[in-house]
Amino acid sequence: MTVVTRIAPSPTGKLHIGTARTALFCKLFAQHMGGKYLGRIEDTDKERSTEENVQLIEQALDWLDLQPDEPWVYQSKHEARHKELAEKLLAEGKAYKCFATAEELEQMREEQRARNENPMYDNRWRERTDHPEGTAYVVRLKTDLEGYTSWDDIVQGHIDYPNTQIDDFIILRSDGSPTYQLAVVADDHDMGVTHVVRGDDHINNTPKQIMLYKALGFDVPHFAHMPLIHGEDGKKLSKRHGAVAAMDFKDMGYLKEALVNYMLRLGWSAGDLEKINYEEAIKLFELKDITKSPANMDIQKLNWLNGEYLKDMSPEAILEEIMPYLNTDLSTSAKERLLKGLPGLVQRENLLPNLAKAADIYIADSIELNEQAAQKLADADKDKLAELVSKLEQTPWEEDDLSATIKGFVKETGLKMPMVMMPLRAALVGTPQAPGVSELLIVIGKDESLNRLKAQF
Ligand code: GLU
Repeated sequence: MTVVTRIAPSPTGKLHIGTARTALFCKLFAQHMGGKYLGRIEDTDKERSTEENVQLIEQALDWLDLQPDEPWVYQSKHEARHKELAEKLLAEGKAYKCFATAEELEQMREEQRARNENPMYDNRWRERTDHPEGTAYVVRLKTDLEGYTSWDDIVQGHIDYPNTQIDDFIILRSDGSPTYQLAVVADDHDMGVTHVVRGDDHINNTPKQIMLYKALGFDVPHFAHMPLIHGEDGKKLSKRHGAVAAMDFKDMGYLKEALVNYMLRLGWSAGDLEKINYEEAIKLFELKDITKSPANMDIQKLNWLNGEYLKDMSPEAILEEIMPYLNTDLSTSAKERLLKGLPGLVQRENLLPNLAKAADIYIADSIELNEQAAQKLADADKDKLAELVSKLEQTPWEEDDLSATIKGFVKETGLKMPMVMMPLRAALVGTPQAPGVSELLIVIGKDESLNRLKAQF
């Protein structure tokens, strides 16, 4: 059997981080099994589905490299097929027409509520043959009235769902359009889906869908219902928590590799491995290793992963990522300094906007002192520091050697460390908030460093 998975987003909004994670799990599992990963746009809700949302979903999947293996299937294009299946069930007596009016059904539910029962359709048209002419009707499936609908869920384990909790649900609305239950079963079957991987908010739909598969004579696929993603406070992730769309994380300055790794670890684990690159993940990923309990967001972990992926990147690649945040053109020498300085900066900053901010010290070709820097320089013992500058000039321009010269000088003169470091940083980059002096000296280079230092001391 060739494994076929799918994602089935409804284009009623941006791609939610939960759907992005489903896409990742579906793709990884298909790749792990040498199968296929497909995509279907569930656009049957014509009021809320928009082409713009389809574009947004594609954009997000593009960014994450999670586009389906084949062109998207649009559910709305298969309405005729869905209708034909409903007709077939009617003809076989496995479904029936229900002529109950909205008012009549509301009254039925009122009475059920008054009896403290869960409101559900009471199957009143199931056996009736006195069908009125020219009156609107819906088509309902004749469900099993007793026993259980059971399946072995790959994540949740064996589930026995009591059939008494399922009413004869609607498969075709009075306007002839299919409901979600019918459309999803028909399309999953027609697309050859073998594994339905989705959020556990769909567990209650599954027994209905299994009944439909059986009524239609289709093979029932495997199901894997994943727990939803919760916020850091343990509550179901919602807009209240801030970022919920996959692209929000791009806008916040996360790398796709970090977000993908992070999503992978939301509810799935391989021992205590945290950093797992995509190729390794393909080898390790099994649906059965998804945990049953909800996965809580942990932004600290995402930040850490982002830093780890930044550290793996070449300076050129890091520069490309931070360019959008720099808002300026770079001179040749600024670019040179950035390429030298970025590997040091990524040891301290793990988010792109913060990294870009830290990198600002290497951009200007001429130094402008900020207020703090001016103060540090005003307080400095300039004569002494001029001696240090001469010593540095004589030192081999290597980070360890320069650092040793500075330490030796501090010891010799008895000056306090900050009284040396702060004014040097101020002179070198115009702010005392900067990496270590010897790192700055290397990044800026011998000639330019000496120019800048001599301008002050
Ligand atoms: N369109 C459904 C949703 O967005 C997915 C249904 C499914 O995966 O079966 O929740």
